Amino acid sequence: MMRKYYIAGNWKMHKTVSESVALAKELAKELGPCGERVMVAPAFTALSAVAEALKGTNIVLGAQNMGPDLQGAHTGEVSPLMLKDLGVVAVILGHSERRHSYLETDALINKKVLLALAQGLEPILCVGETLEEREAGKLEAVVGTQVREGLKGVAASDLARVTIAYEPVWAIGTGKTATPEDADAVHAYIRVVLESLYGKPAAKAMCIQYGGSVKPDNAAELMAKPNIDGALVGGAALKAETFGPIVKFRS
Ligand code: PEP
Repeated sequence: MMRKYYIAGNWKMHKTVSESVALAKELAKELGPCGERVMVAPAFTALSAVAEALKGTNIVLGAQNMGPDLQGAHTGEVSPLMLKDLGVVAVILGHSERRHSYLETDALINKKVLLALAQGLEPILCVGETLEEREAGKLEAVVGTQVREGLKGVAASDLARVTIAYEPVWAIGTGKTATPEDADAVHAYIRVVLESLYGKPAAKAMCIQYGGSVKPDNAAELMAKPNIDGALVGGAALKAETFGPIVKFRS
C-alpha cells in the first residue's frame, strides 16, 4: 500500500481573515483531491471563515494552540469546545514557540493533550531540542522526556489520534534543516520511546512529522526517509506557491 503522508501548515500569527480565506481557497484549488492528508492551522480569528472556505474540500482545519480547560474564568484562552464548534479537527500543542516564548511546561502540554483527546480533537504534539541541548549531548534525554511527559496518561486506544511533530528548535524559521538522515535518526529514537510505552505495532503505526524549514526543494528527500511520515510547515505554508509543491512532493 502506498504511504499516505500528513502535511500540516502552521500559519502562526499571520494573515487577516480575508487573507486567510484567500489562501485557503487558493490551496483548495491548487491541491484538489490529493492523496496526502493536509491540514492548515490559521489564527483563531480566522478559523470560522477558513472553515467555511474549506467546506467540501479534503483539507482539515487545525488550531495552533488550545487552553487547558473546558470553560470558566480563563481570560484570553480558547477551549476545545469553541474549536469544535468551528469545525476544528486537529490542534497543534507544545509548539516550541509556546514552550520557549510562553514557558509552557510538559505538564501543561500534557493536560492539553489529554483534554483534546477527551474532546475528540486530534493533537499534534510538538517536541524538539535547542541547539544548546543538542551540542551538550542531551538530544535524546530532552526529546524522550517531552514525548513521555506529553503522552502521560494517554490510553493506547487513543494513540492513533495523536501525531508527533519533531521540530528541532534550531531549524524552525532559520532556513537550517536537519539533514534527512539526522531527522530520521531522531524519529527512529522517538519510535523506540513509543515502543517502550505502547509496544512495537503502535510505535510503528504512529505518524511522526518533521518540522523545521521544510521547503519545496527539501520535502521529497525528507519524506523518503522511513521514519518521516509528514511535515509540519511554518514559513512555507503561508503561500500556495510553496505549500502546494510541498504537499505534492511526489510529483
Ligand atoms: C513551525 O513553526 O512549525 C516550523 C516548522 O516553521 P518553519 O517551517 O518556518 O521552520
